[in-house]
Amino acid sequence: MLTQPCTPPRSAAKLGHVTSKLPHRRTRRFSHAPWLLFCAAAAASCGAPAAEPRAAPSSVLLVTIDTLRADRLGCYGHTRAHTPNIDGLATRGVRFERALSVAPLTFPAHVSLMSGTIPPHHGARDNGVFRAVEELDLLAEVLRETGLRTAAFTAAFVLDSQFGLDQGFEEYGDVPQRVMHPKGMLEHRSAAEVNAEAFAWLNTLDESEPFFLWLHYFEPHLPYPPPNERPAALRDHPYDAEVSNADRALGQVLARLEELGRGEETLVVLTSDHGESLGEHGEASHSFFVYQAVLHVPLIFSHASLPAGSTVSSNASLVDVMPTLLELLEIEGPPLPPPARSLAASVRGAASTASSPPPPVYFESLNSLLNYGWAPLQGVTLGDDKYIRAPRAELYDIARDPAELSNLLATDAERARALEEMLVALLAANPGREGAERELSDSDRVRLAGLGYTGAASPAVTENTLADPKDGIERVRKEELILELFNAGRHAEGVGVLRELLEGDPANPVFNSRFGFVQLMQGRFDEAIPYLERSIENGYRVAENVTNLALCFLYTQRLDRARTVFEEALAINAKYLPALFGLAQVHVGQGDPDAARDRLDELLGLWRGGEDPIIAQARQLLATLPR
Ligand SMILES: [Zn+2]
Repeated sequence: MLTQPCTPPRSAAKLGHVTSKLPHRRTRRFSHAPWLLFCAAAAASCGAPAAEPRAAPSSVLLVTIDTLRADRLGCYGHTRAHTPNIDGLATRGVRFERALSVAPLTFPAHVSLMSGTIPPHHGARDNGVFRAVEELDLLAEVLRETGLRTAAFTAAFVLDSQFGLDQGFEEYGDVPQRVMHPKGMLEHRSAAEVNAEAFAWLNTLDESEPFFLWLHYFEPHLPYPPPNERPAALRDHPYDAEVSNADRALGQVLARLEELGRGEETLVVLTSDHGESLGEHGEASHSFFVYQAVLHVPLIFSHASLPAGSTVSSNASLVDVMPTLLELLEIEGPPLPPPARSLAASVRGAASTASSPPPPVYFESLNSLLNYGWAPLQGVTLGDDKYIRAPRAELYDIARDPAELSNLLATDAERARALEEMLVALLAANPGREGAERELSDSDRVRLAGLGYTGAASPAVTENTLADPKDGIERVRKEELILELFNAGRHAEGVGVLRELLEGDPANPVFNSRFGFVQLMQGRFDEAIPYLERSIENGYRVAENVTNLALCFLYTQRLDRARTVFEEALAINAKYLPALFGLAQVHVGQGDPDAARDRLDELLGLWRGGEDPIIAQARQLLATLPR
């Protein structure tokens, strides 16, 4: 009895646990394998036509479009969409109807995609303060070891090479540092700029060299462009307009591959790291909640060897992409912990005849824990059942109730209990990893360890004393409103809202950070310091927040303290230009012009933007220093 007729033997699974970087054998890349002939024979014996098998792909184009909801694409049924290139991929390839992200956060989701492991295994739980550790066998490393040329061009700072996703890439295009203002993690560039670098790299390849090219576009992520930069039909729909802009960029890459004669050999994989709430459940964007709006992502595999226009209806996870892709390329991958699995049989069109039922799909968001001090969210989806562990847990039937408006927990506690057990088992198989934290605060470290997220294998514990994020979303919305009030010059009103938020939640890291920033902007440095210190102590350790504290010390002439804190900011983000400039000023104040010059040279070397007042100041300061 054939159970998986089109799955090649996977000897990698017999290798046992591999800790070192193993040489990944490329099996049968240039000839049709016995298993392929075996498949054809099996198909013939079942009465199916034995079609001439097409050659397996030898190169890969992986495109991740940040913040892309599946249901905003034409091929996923969105009537207003203008996404002809993505829709065309689906027409020529295989589309997963229900692919799910592991986390609504760019960096953790991309590490899962590139490693085939869930965040509890790889340890990257948030943007900015974690890294992809060396021990992971990342997709690019596997492909490079089998002889593919590798390059990645990314569009957002969150994926900067300093966070470790560059492992295995011969070339890794970071976002140039351009903006001196505290835009921090939102630093990004256009898909056109990403494409320009990719085209230049493709031109350096010999035409016979197989390649792995990863492109990351950021268009659908906030902020949106002004109406005059949107396609006419989508002028009033900024999100759809940005999706359309990303689609156009994808079309340009596909056209370039055809021009270069590389289209036929190239497997194209299109997906996203997470979706966008767009106001659902009270969330404007993403990172906080784990509803389908942010978890349901597109996933399309397109190549001439695959059945054109077919769909897969069962649940798939971002962690399944790496093993699937490797199997389609006939490359042996590293053994992966559960729940990752190859979906190559489904992609090739074999009916889902796997002997074991599909595993639960894992998801999480620790954003509420790490940045607000509220309870984390974790859960699993199995078939149509979706369970979210929280102080007030949730259970949904996502087929009947895709908007997740009707919590079935009270009426079906038994089902919730079964899913909670699956979650516990999954976490036990993926014990927390130490070493992925870069610059966590002590309190975050303690919190993560105490809840079982790092260190020894222990199932995560629901911390009932922490607030439910559902109760915090109103406060998050208010906090977002503050920026708008300040931009509109309504400072007093903004300060009033902030005071109100702090009264209700005095330890909240983000609220303290905002209040400190407001004091800093108004020149009240001494007032700002305790708020900024508290925000950092309680976990808000992004480089711009730490830099704001350092600036308070600089402007009040506490230079030793300023220096230490600027250095802390640079340990979090070595390329944060305001921290480099501040540190240079400290060195000048301390009578160390050589050190100041080094910092300024470093800063100007990183700068890729047009004229900026602070760059002009940096140049001025440099000119005053003795050479
Ligand atoms: Zn993202």
